[in-house]
Amino acid sequence: MSKFWSPIVASLEPYVAGEQPAIANLVKLNTNENPWGPSPQVLEAIHAATNDDLRRYPDPSAKALKEAIARYHDVTPEQVFVGNGSDEVLAFIFASLLKHDAPLLYPDITYSFYPTYSRLFDIETRTIPLDADYRIRPEDYDSPCGAIILPNPNAPTGIGLPLGDIERLASAHPDQVVAVDEAYVDFGGATAIPLVATNENVIVIRTFSKSRSLAGLRVGYAIAQRPLIEALERMKDSFNSYPLDRIAQVAAVASIEDDAWFTARRDELIENRRRLTVELENRGFVVLPSQANFIFARKPGFEGKALAAALRERAVLVRHFGKPRIADFLRISIGTEAECRRLVEALDDIL
Ligand code: PMP
Repeated sequence: MSKFWSPIVASLEPYVAGEQPAIANLVKLNTNENPWGPSPQVLEAIHAATNDDLRRYPDPSAKALKEAIARYHDVTPEQVFVGNGSDEVLAFIFASLLKHDAPLLYPDITYSFYPTYSRLFDIETRTIPLDADYRIRPEDYDSPCGAIILPNPNAPTGIGLPLGDIERLASAHPDQVVAVDEAYVDFGGATAIPLVATNENVIVIRTFSKSRSLAGLRVGYAIAQRPLIEALERMKDSFNSYPLDRIAQVAAVASIEDDAWFTARRDELIENRRRLTVELENRGFVVLPSQANFIFARKPGFEGKALAAALRERAVLVRHFGKPRIADFLRISIGTEAECRRLVEALDDIL
């Protein structure tokens, strides 16, 4: 701390990202990355973009990418906002849409960036506990509020809400923004994008980091009706008018265009999740029903922290959150079949 810091910076509890250790032969199941690389078409597009054009600024409107995203989701390009990963998109949403006189609501167990952003942008908040089964109950959000944000599926539980529940939330709060963070929706969740056409308060946030294997490039986007998107564009143009670099823009377009690769990898991941869930349940784990590319699991009688440490000693990295109610859980990203096998072998060794 220094006397030069603003009070907000002094009171921030910065988000702690998952580890990215440089250890060879590590089974890295701690940050929900995709176990497979991006499609060959994406790599080709990146290669083609790495040329003399790099001396030129990127397209500040990201026109081609917005058009590709709009086509994919059957919306107009004016309904698309893009940014450096969905974290940046979320930051713009917190800064421009979620601060009001009444508190912002979000689940008490959720993506840990939400409290950080709320503090950063000085937003009053109220957290809503998950129910006894670690589910979000939409009716718990019926009280007056300034806005609502939730991930669907939720993180780190992996549990998804049906579309009807999101629709209910949106209609219960017609004058409040309802932001739905769909970082993991491609792995079996129900997207709220169809609600955007009839709900002026719904904004959906997506990322290329998980189902599209492009975490390293940082591409995220939001879809909403025009007035909400215009708020984000206004904020962005006020401090960085280039949303994405040239390479990120072309790679993201190529990814959207290679649907076959995307679908095949997603289906394989869902199958690996199913198999790993069975393997863990056979070993006495309680596994929450996941619609994401990770599972949230605990072994009764075993301490989560100790289990994560024992796995780490065996070069298997998983995520453990030392927070109330979920201290015994491990969040395990779904890997390749071989990676899942190494996890199970390490658990057998430990247990
Ligand atoms: N939302 C949720 C719920 C997440 O778990 C993550 C990944 N940590 C993000 C958003 C951000 O992902 P990215 O910035 O890579 O798009």
